[in-house]
Amino acid sequence: MSGAHLLVLEGDGIGPEIVAGTRTVLDTCDATFGLGLSFETAEIGFAAHRSVGTTIPDPVIAAARGADGVILGPVSHNEYPPVAEGGLNPSGVLRKALDLYANIRPALTPEGLGGSARAVDLVTVRENTEGFYADRNMFEGPGEFRPDPDLALAIRKISRRACRRIAEAAFALAEARPARHVTAVHKANVLRISDGLFLEECRAVAEAHPAIAYDEVLIDAMAAHLVRDAGRYDVIVTTNMYGDILSDLAAELSGSLGLAGSLNAGEEHAMAQAQHGSAPDIAGQGRANPVSLIASAAMLLDWLAQRGTLPAGAEAAAAIRAGIVAAIAEPGTRTPDLGGTGTTTALAQAVAGYVADTA
Ligand code: ATP
Ligand code: MG
Repeated sequence: MSGAHLLVLEGDGIGPEIVAGTRTVLDTCDATFGLGLSFETAEIGFAAHRSVGTTIPDPVIAAARGADGVILGPVSHNEYPPVAEGGLNPSGVLRKALDLYANIRPALTPEGLGGSARAVDLVTVRENTEGFYADRNMFEGPGEFRPDPDLALAIRKISRRACRRIAEAAFALAEARPARHVTAVHKANVLRISDGLFLEECRAVAEAHPAIAYDEVLIDAMAAHLVRDAGRYDVIVTTNMYGDILSDLAAELSGSLGLAGSLNAGEEHAMAQAQHGSAPDIAGQGRANPVSLIASAAMLLDWLAQRGTLPAGAEAAAAIRAGIVAAIAEPGTRTPDLGGTGTTTALAQAVAGYVADTA
């Protein structure tokens, strides 16, 4: 019998709440579609630091390598103790250890949400292994440092290989979407060498995909274009930090950051992770929107289906997406970020209920 073994990591802040909601939906999928899912859980973040002195223990990294997929709750890494005291960013460490070079971040307005949400249906494809992120660009030393007390420097690493593979991931994704349009977002007018290299590779990949429309937009102009008319974009490919920021903007335009799922994908591994952080301001109150992580889990099921690991995963993922739309269409089920008074648990149960009904 086919099946998949998933490693589930709760993380910090609202992590335990939204992970529980996601498990409810996955358990329902398993029962409804006979997926043969098995789960393993492990501590990371503050909980792991309390018990074993590090926020990302080595056995967890090994378990992630051994699993078919990972579900990662959000982490409060900016609150952790220094790295020397075991406070590593679990998300960064896992992305690196599993070579999860593509961070796929859809922003899709749920039909029937209404309110101030704009009609958005785009995917940000964000380079995930280098750029301006100091924990990821250890290029002969730390990526960020202070040569003297009054000076701080950060190194932004851009390699041809990383640009090539993120561009290829973006065009492969665009092939499967009706609009078939890729926009490369950059700042090559000032970062001529580094963003210039990124554009070189995007153009080379665009040439190999003549059926896909390709254009280039500056990051600052892109922020304005998104607010004005996000509906005209389809797939956005960009470097790490621009992608981090733009995808939050796109998610919020689509209704809420709490709706935004994401998948960190490489050749061999994939990890579902909500786009947002650990939202410490609302942790423990049962008001977090679990849809972001539920949608991320659906992306993981799709990825497992595409690889042939879990053929029925695609059907389950489609049922989750339909369940999310149906649940959110009911104002009484909406969480406060969507203008409602619903709870994390009730929204997750509503999605699970719709999934069960598809059988
Ligand atoms: P971190 O330090 O972990 O990144 P943060 O303080 O930056 O945390 P985010 O998690 O990035 O916070 O969230 C930014 C804002 O969006 C917060 O006000 C948070 O409450 C809200 N938010 C984020 N995720 C959700 C969610 N799933 N449901 C509801 N609100 C959310
Ligand atoms: Mg944040």
